Amino acid sequence: MGIMKFAPTMLKQLFEKPVTKNYPAEPINYPEGSRGHIDIDIQQCISCGMCMRVCPPGAITVDRKTRTWTINRFDCVQCGYCTTVCPKKCLYLNPGYQTPGPEKYIYSQTHVLTEAEKQHEAEMEAKKQAAIKAAMAKKAAAAAAAKKDGAAPDAAAKPADKPQA
Ligand code: SF4
Ligand code: SF4
Repeated sequence: MGIMKFAPTMLKQLFEKPVTKNYPAEPINYPEGSRGHIDIDIQQCISCGMCMRVCPPGAITVDRKTRTWTINRFDCVQCGYCTTVCPKKCLYLNPGYQTPGPEKYIYSQTHVLTEAEKQHEAEMEAKKQAAIKAAMAKKAAAAAAAKKDGAAPDAAAKPADKPQA
């Protein structure tokens, strides 16, 4: 008796399309407004640290020395604030799920310098060193001039003694 009651549903289901998707062969369409997770285009990142400073739960760490950007996905609340302050617009909310892997929660990316960037950095460093060298030479010349005049190197910079009453 019971089977007779269930038969129409069974037959209907046999000719209907499945309600689930044939994932991963069929791509998933995430619903509008889905926030997913934060991703970064690391080669655009300039390690300014703005995202780290504004992140409410402190989920982001930026190491300027190694140019490494790290997010603790357990701490991230997907508010999206970091994406709005990034000057290079290299952070974005990816609506999809993360790819399974050991880096799922502590996710790090390091900016690798291009040849042009390396050259630019070397030029900037050379300019900095030249400026330091020039400042030191100027200071030494001033000290030598003061010595030649018979005064202490920084005596000229001192205010004159008050006249005695
Ligand atoms: S989305 Fe919000 S919580 Fe997540 S890293 Fe960005 S600022 Fe922090
Ligand atoms: S705000 Fe943008 S450019 Fe600055 S450190 Fe974060 S991701 Fe990099």
